[in-house]
Amino acid sequence: TDGPTDGEGAVTPTPEIDTSTPHSARVYDYWLNGKNNYEADAEAARRVSEIWPTVRVGAQLNRAFMHRATRWLAAEAGIRQFLDVGTGIPTEPNLHQVAQSVAPEARVLYADNDPIVLQYAQALLHSAPEGRTAYLHADVTRPQDILESPELRETLDLGEPVALSLIALLHLISDERGAYEIVRTLVDALPSGSYVMLTHATDDLDPELMARVATFYESSVTGGGQLRSKEGVLRFFDGLELVEPGLVVAHRWRPELNLTDDAYKPRAVAEDGEADEPEEAVVPEREVSDAELSVYGGVARKP
Ligand code: SAH
Repeated sequence: TDGPTDGEGAVTPTPEIDTSTPHSARVYDYWLNGKNNYEADAEAARRVSEIWPTVRVGAQLNRAFMHRATRWLAAEAGIRQFLDVGTGIPTEPNLHQVAQSVAPEARVLYADNDPIVLQYAQALLHSAPEGRTAYLHADVTRPQDILESPELRETLDLGEPVALSLIALLHLISDERGAYEIVRTLVDALPSGSYVMLTHATDDLDPELMARVATFYESSVTGGGQLRSKEGVLRFFDGLELVEPGLVVAHRWRPELNLTDDAYKPRAVAEDGEADEPEEAVVPEREVSDAELSVYGGVARKP
């Protein structure tokens, strides 16, 4: 059957791609029905699913938030430039496809530090002819590397508003590793009228569950992350103006903007940029509760 394949169909790993330990991008790809994960990733993803049975639909809901927020930014806020950090393995529709479906001239710079994402960069570069996309291999803990990169200069005009997209990234970066300073540095480089959109896992709503998930992640997948309370996530928006409905559990953010035909149908993208046929939709059998999702989402404007 279609769906995650424990490495079958994934790229032949280059030396930079360590398949022996789970990587967050590939574990997440497994939940999205992707094919770009290896045995260790699939095993870790299944272990997390045992602890947190709604994680898979949560990943879909996280993508659906990204679609809605991007659509809103392009259609309602008039944003034409996006800087997406922590892009992940390409899964259609990708951010530029959502933005360019509203405004074909939209420009997107993608950045991630995982070598497997770099391997798939070509798949991300298929911009509408009127717009532009580029990919930067960079670590967000060195935000200046992103800001000073030729890729950024060639793709985005920092004299015009930019939406900074940090979707499911910051819970992988602890306070100690400088999460708040990183966001501050990136936001400071953007002009007035820019936006930040983000999602972030929280331990507010089911502390016991999320403590077990965090313990597993720290020991087996990606260390150096941190769950945050609503207050903690709100701090990323310091100095910014949250747009309605504020910081909410991600599925509650403007649900009317969901396009029912794409929200639950992630599609893996091969190295040549061809998308698979849509996977069977992972439609929740019942409504997922706030605690089962345990991910906040919000969008804010830089005054
Ligand atoms: N934004 C995508 C993918 C989220 S998975 C989505 O929501 O669908 C988190 C991504 O962050 C992974 O691809 C991982 O490789 C990336 N990431 C983790 N730490 C990072 C860092 N320090 N710098 C850049 N990217 C990072």
